[in-house]
Amino acid sequence: MELIFEISKPGRKGYSLPTCDVPQRTIQATYCRTSPIDLPEVSEPQIIRHFVNLSVMNHHVDKNFYPLGSCTMKYNPKINEEAARLNGFTEIHPLQQAHTVQGALQLMYELGEFLKAIVNLDAITLQPAAGAQGEFTAISMFKAYFNKREENRKYILVPDSAHGTNPASVNFSGFTPITLPSNKDGLVDMTKLKELMTDEVAGIMLTNPNTLGLFEKSVREINDIVHQKGGLIYLDGANLNALLGIVRVGDLGFDAVHFNLHKTFSTPHGGGGPGSGPVAVKKILAPFLPIPIILKKDGTYYLDYAHPNSIGKVQTYYGNFLVMVRAYTFLRSMGEQGLNKISKSAILNANYIIQSLKDDYSLPYPSFCMHEGVLSGRDLRDHGVRTLDVAKRLLDFGFHAPTVYFPLIVSEALMIEPTESESKETLDRFIDSMKQIRKESRDNPDVLKSAPTKTPVRRLDEVKAIKELTVRWKK
Ligand SMILES: *Cc1c(COP(=O)(O)O)cnc(C)c1O
Repeated sequence: MELIFEISKPGRKGYSLPTCDVPQRTIQATYCRTSPIDLPEVSEPQIIRHFVNLSVMNHHVDKNFYPLGSCTMKYNPKINEEAARLNGFTEIHPLQQAHTVQGALQLMYELGEFLKAIVNLDAITLQPAAGAQGEFTAISMFKAYFNKREENRKYILVPDSAHGTNPASVNFSGFTPITLPSNKDGLVDMTKLKELMTDEVAGIMLTNPNTLGLFEKSVREINDIVHQKGGLIYLDGANLNALLGIVRVGDLGFDAVHFNLHKTFSTPHGGGGPGSGPVAVKKILAPFLPIPIILKKDGTYYLDYAHPNSIGKVQTYYGNFLVMVRAYTFLRSMGEQGLNKISKSAILNANYIIQSLKDDYSLPYPSFCMHEGVLSGRDLRDHGVRTLDVAKRLLDFGFHAPTVYFPLIVSEALMIEPTESESKETLDRFIDSMKQIRKESRDNPDVLKSAPTKTPVRRLDEVKAIKELTVRWKK
């Protein structure tokens, strides 16, 4: 204890931070501290316990199953973190000359090449910092493409099952979204598509598999219809975890796609970041990519700014570099075979869960699903129970909830995405808990309505949290 006290004692030599006797002083005296910071005195075991306890108060992938649909909350191999912490990657500066950061540029270049091969498209930018920003980047490129051709197209078609970021990106890029309805099978309504796809429409944003977890069987026909009218086709690639090594996006006719590196290629995410949303495109769109482009010539990597038709920069510097390091590490460690296995296992896991639960919760679109599936808790309403209550009760069983109330076209939606990295034992424990919750909804609905009871914080008043938001720590 003596020693610990000594180490943390304020004011010990070398501890009192930037006072004005720092030899190469550049800070004005008025900004310098005159007394030591009042830091709490704690021992190493105390501080470690503090942070470990804090970390388990919340739910995260390292704690338990996290089947949050559409978010691909998969295991993040710790080797990714080791790679992202290498000094050579963390101690470089974005303004360094290219010849001093060849390793970083090589990694970005090779990552781009891998991603292009996965989707069979021609050119790529790694700059966008999230899927949503990737959408915005690509649709802005659509705009630039039509401007260059002097075609005044105003609209983009967006299916009614799409993620909310799709119509938002359309608006931000200067187009107006037109909602494309789904048919009774949860897929694009082809008759409606033919009707809506006029020569005033710049293109379509598709999600495939869509947010119901269903593969658009007519994807080629959809793309032909749009192309025949001179439109462009965008794939929201957030669900790429279902397609790796099975089908290449470019082969289906898409002109552009975004990747969510933080979903498909494993980086811890949630709570708003960090992310990375590279965009790959066909040749015809390459001139509009954000600058700079990373190129290779005679074994040297460099940043190329000579693209007069570029939409410009969409992010400071080159995007979230350390997310790229993680994705690169993941890709290199998985290899081609590994990637293919990821998608097959993810699809198998999702179907196992959905088929096991379809008699307890209703399954509005009963066909085979891809890497995620959507159930509905609508029958639970007979007992006054809502999907939100199921979500809260799952926390008492140690699980994070699925995505709820999305997609909007399913009432009381429960969107479950197990990912490839969960064992059958985990899936079975989740299925058992969901069945037990269904039973409780009949026998003892109050348990659900007051859940969670075993978490550090009980059910929050969400309306109050929105209306009287306090984000400041109060002493
Ligand atoms: C996650 C997601 C997005 C947005 O991606 P972010 O990286 O969160 O910005 C878009 N579409 C779908 C279908 C998604 O699941």
